[in-house]
Amino acid sequence: MAGQKMLKFTAVDREMPEKRPPNLRKQDFGEIYAEFATAKAAEQASRCSQCGVPYCQSHCPLHNNIPDWLRLTAEGRLEEAYEISQATNTFPEICGRICPQDRLCEGNCVIEQSGHGTVTIGSVEKYVTDTAFEEGWVKPIRPSAERSESVGIIGAGPGGLAAADMLRRQGVQVTVYDRYDRGGGLLTYGIPGFKLEKDVVMKRMAQLEDGGVQFVLNCNVGEDLSFDAIRGKHDAVLIATGVYKTRDLPDSDAEGIVNAIDFLTVSNRHGFGDVVPEFESGELNAAGKRVVVIGGGDTAMDCVRTSIRQGAESVKCLYRRDRANMPGSQREVQNAEEEGVEFVWLAAPDGFEGGPVSGVKVQKMRLGAPDATGRQAPEVIEGADYVEPADLVIKALGFSPEDLPTLWGTEGLEVTRWGTVKAEFGTGATSLEGVYAAGDIVRGASLVVWAIRDGRDTATAILDYLNEAAAVAAE
Ligand SMILES: Cc1cc2nc3c(=O)[nH]c(=O)nc-3n(C[C@H](O)[C@H](O)[C@H](O)COP(=O)(O)OP(=O)(O)OC[C@H]3O[C@@H](n4cnc5c(N)ncnc54)[C@H](O)[C@@H]3O)c2cc1C
Ligand code: SF4
Repeated sequence: MAGQKMLKFTAVDREMPEKRPPNLRKQDFGEIYAEFATAKAAEQASRCSQCGVPYCQSHCPLHNNIPDWLRLTAEGRLEEAYEISQATNTFPEICGRICPQDRLCEGNCVIEQSGHGTVTIGSVEKYVTDTAFEEGWVKPIRPSAERSESVGIIGAGPGGLAAADMLRRQGVQVTVYDRYDRGGGLLTYGIPGFKLEKDVVMKRMAQLEDGGVQFVLNCNVGEDLSFDAIRGKHDAVLIATGVYKTRDLPDSDAEGIVNAIDFLTVSNRHGFGDVVPEFESGELNAAGKRVVVIGGGDTAMDCVRTSIRQGAESVKCLYRRDRANMPGSQREVQNAEEEGVEFVWLAAPDGFEGGPVSGVKVQKMRLGAPDATGRQAPEVIEGADYVEPADLVIKALGFSPEDLPTLWGTEGLEVTRWGTVKAEFGTGATSLEGVYAAGDIVRGASLVVWAIRDGRDTATAILDYLNEAAAVAAE
C-alpha cells in the first residue's frame, strides 16, 4: 500500500540536506548544501500527504508530477521517480537547486499550512536527478529518425537549451548561436557556483553536443552574423536572448562603481580558471575592499555573497524598502547574513563621493501609504542622510531588454512597450513568420523554470509549424 510509506509529516520533521557552516563555505564557491543520503531522501519524501488536488504541482511552472515522484522516492523506486520527473522537466537537477521553491511548489504545500513544514521538494528533485546521472539512467539524445528541417536558436540559456533538447530528440537539425564562449546563459555566467556548480551545467551542454546539437559560440547575432542570415539558413528561428541591459543610477560612472552582471560574469570566468584581466587588476574583484551593493533582488544577493567569498573587508547591502518587502528570496538573505553580510534596510542611494569612489550618499527612508498595487511606497526621511564608505559599489537594480529590432535591423519584429519581444502566449510565435521567442526576452527578467517552460512550449509549437509545412510540401 502506497499510503503506508507516505503521510509521515506528523511523525517526521522537515529537514533540508545539511548546510555547510558559514566559516567553511565562504572560503570557496562550492554549493552550500550537501546531498541527501538515500535514506534521508526517502524519509523526507514520505512526508508528502499525496493530496488529491496537489497545489505544489499546479504552482510549479512545469506542472511537475510531484506527488508521484515523491511516492516513488519514498518506496526506493528511484529510476521510476526520475523517469516521471524528467518527463516534464528538461533540467530537474538545476531547478531542484535554484528554483525559489518557497514561492512556487513548496510555498503551496498543504502540510505547511497545517503547521508541519513543507516537503523539501526541490532537494528531493535534485537528489533523484543527481542519482540518475550517477547510475547512468539519464539517456543520451538519440533521435529515432533524422529530419531534414533545421532550427536556429539564438541564445544558449535555459530557454534556448530546453527547446534545443526537445527539437533534437525529434530528429530536427538544431544550431544554437551564442555570443559567449560557453553555453548556459545566466546558468553559466550569472548565477554563482555556491548556488549552482558549473559542472552541473556543463554536463547538460555535453549531453546536447553528444546528441548532435551544433553550437556556434562567440557569435554575437547582429554583429558577427545578421539575424536575416540566420533566418535564411533555417526553417524556423527561436529568439532566446535573455535581458542584459542594466538599470542604472544617475551619475554613477566613477571608477569603482560597477554593474552586477559584469562583476558576476568575471567572477564566474575566474572560477572556470580563465585569465580575466578585470579580475587580476582589481577592477572587478572585491578582495580587501569595503563593498556596497545596491538592490534587494536575487542578483544583489549573489553579489554580496560573491564579494564575501572574494575576501572583501566588509559587505553591505542597501535596499530602499524593508526586509519584508524585498523581492529577493528570504532564504538567500538568511544565507547572506550567516556569511557576514550586513543589510541596511530603508536606505536609498543619492549620489556618490570620490572618483575613484570613496562612498555612497545614503538617504534613509520610511514606508508610506500603500500605492495602487498595495505595496507601501518608500518616502525620504528629511535630514537623515549620511555617507556610507565604499571602495567598490555594485549596482544590482535589475535588467531590461536590449533593443533587438534596432540592433538586428528587424523592424517587423514587434516588441512591447517594455522592449520585450511580443510573442503569442503558449506558442511563443512572434510577428515574423517562422520566428519564435522564449524566456526572459519575452517575460522580462524572470526565472530559470519559466525559461525552461517557454523553451518546451515553443519547441512544441515549432514542431507543429514544421509538420504543417512538410504536409503542405507533400500535397
Ligand atoms: C545574477 C542572477 C541570479 C539569478 N538567480 C536565479 C535563481 O537563483 N533562480 C532562478 O530561477 N532564476 C535566477 N535568475 C534568473 C534566470 O537566470 C533567468 O530567468 C534565466 O536564465 C533566463 O533564461 P533565458 O534562456 O531566457 O536567458 P539567459 O539565461 O539570459 O540566456 C540568454 C543567452 O542569450 C545570449 N545572447 C544574448 N544576446 C545575444 C546575441 N545578440 N547573439 C548571440 N547570443 C546572445 C546570451 O549570451 C545568453 O547566453 C538569476 C538571474 C541573475 C542575473
Ligand atoms: S521545477 Fe521548481 S517549482 Fe517545479 S517542482 Fe522543481 S523546484 Fe519546485
